[in-house]
Amino acid sequence: MFVNELILQANIEVKTNDKVSSMWKSYRQTGSRREACGFIIGGYEASNNLIIVDQCTTPGIKDIRTRYTYKLKDPKHHAAVVNAYNSSGGYSNFLGVWHTHPERIPSPSDIDINGWNHLIKENDSIIPAFLFVIVGTEKTNFYTYLNERFNG
Ligand SMILES: [Zn+2]
Repeated sequence: MFVNELILQANIEVKTNDKVSSMWKSYRQTGSRREACGFIIGGYEASNNLIIVDQCTTPGIKDIRTRYTYKLKDPKHHAAVVNAYNSSGGYSNFLGVWHTHPERIPSPSDIDINGWNHLIKENDSIIPAFLFVIVGTEKTNFYTYLNERFNG
């Protein structure tokens, strides 16, 4: 299927920090909790083929969250990207989105993949590499996409 082919496992190394990891852990969808979601912010080092996650936004009051769906509606996510971009002199930028799934080992739904492809198309003139993260109740999975526009 076309949409699945567009998400490549590009073998990019991903580096997160303890703050981000424990934040993801704190939103794990155990019990009857709703999905959580946010932006991933950081940079890409082409020479090391490495995505460095600096920070992630956390759910805001205007986000729409149910047991099996989420919509990022709160303006805080975009504002955090602008802040990070300005205070890092343009190094730190939007990388993608993270969200939770109420399953032990998460896998992306068709809605997830369509959404990711949409985000890639919207941002591929400025973002060299993308990262999408699904936090399951036991495992966190990473999906990376290398933008060929920046790879030549
Ligand atoms: Zn999902």
